[in-house]
Amino acid sequence: MTGHLTSPDRVSHASKAAAEGGIDALLVTPGPDLRWLTGYDALPLERLTCLVLPAAGEPFLVAPTLEVPAVRASPVPDLGVEVVGWGETDDPYAVIAARLANPSRVALANRMWAEQVLRMRAALVGAEQTLASEVIGDLRIRKSPEEVDALRRAGQAIDRVQARMGEFLRPGRTEREAGRDIARAILDEGHVTVDFVIVGSGPNGASPHHEVGDRVLESGDVVVIDIGGTTAEGYCSDCTRMYTLGEPPPEFVDYFRVLHDAQLAACAHARPGVTAESVDAAARRVIADAGYGAHFIHRTGHGIGVETHEEPYIVEGNGRMLEAGMAFSIEPGIYLAGRHGARIEDIVVATDNADGRPGIERLNTTDRDYVVLED
Ligand code: ZN
Ligand code: ZN
Repeated sequence: MTGHLTSPDRVSHASKAAAEGGIDALLVTPGPDLRWLTGYDALPLERLTCLVLPAAGEPFLVAPTLEVPAVRASPVPDLGVEVVGWGETDDPYAVIAARLANPSRVALANRMWAEQVLRMRAALVGAEQTLASEVIGDLRIRKSPEEVDALRRAGQAIDRVQARMGEFLRPGRTEREAGRDIARAILDEGHVTVDFVIVGSGPNGASPHHEVGDRVLESGDVVVIDIGGTTAEGYCSDCTRMYTLGEPPPEFVDYFRVLHDAQLAACAHARPGVTAESVDAAARRVIADAGYGAHFIHRTGHGIGVETHEEPYIVEGNGRMLEAGMAFSIEPGIYLAGRHGARIEDIVVATDNADGRPGIERLNTTDRDYVVLED
């Protein structure tokens, strides 16, 4: 895959952070950390591919010989990372161990497979293992202006799909049929992968992560559409909007207004210098005050970047202070089991200059009100 946003600074900053954190080497197998560090979107396979960033020394990437052409076509060589191929009868873990003289502490990519973690442990005898997020979490959590631009483009791409929902949702179609068309539209409108498609119609909308099923859409249905993909630049989108097929039930209209106010309250509160948990509280208070507190059954949001879910989590107990450049969702929901449910979700980025003062920029900019489609 080409077009990934990369920067040689990320590799050098990560090596520096490792040194400062008393970590001898960062070991990064395919996944979001590797994509973020190098722009190399490798398939996770049983044959080991691993970027090694020593705290002192030059970075290298160990890859199976058959993957080396793909590595050379990626941004890895441009970043000054040496490519070390290994043949089918070589032991890539031994290759890494030989190059890292007895490290005492290594940090492993958070999404590394367990079998690789254990083989690293066996090869790097005595090395304490910790998570790469300890080293690069702080680098990934604050987005650079280029990353914010990439997230803004991802937001615009998914907004275009939401704007087309009238083409896909009609009584008589199943969630699965609608979902297939929505997935195609996610690709057509500027993503290279479809990460998830939630079409929660009627009672299925009361289950926040229901994806699609065989339920047939009916006139009068309330439908939750929560969709996201990844763009060619490697950044994720995630947006939820509500639709009704014809006029919705009155109780939906009642609690939707509460939800809308709650989402607005959280957006108005979020800014650099407030805690993540206070944004959750701002949404939750509105919903609880209206008597729906027991029906808001998840956190208010999650960070987003090269992964759909990453730090900072907008949840009670997370006292982390928001800072300019942090991108996250604000997505309160109200779910009435067996009947229907609703969620409104925007991706936002904290900024010191939201019309001249600290606040957020919304990266999803379509109207948050529910849309009544013809039934
Ligand atoms: Zn979502
Ligand atoms: Zn989300």
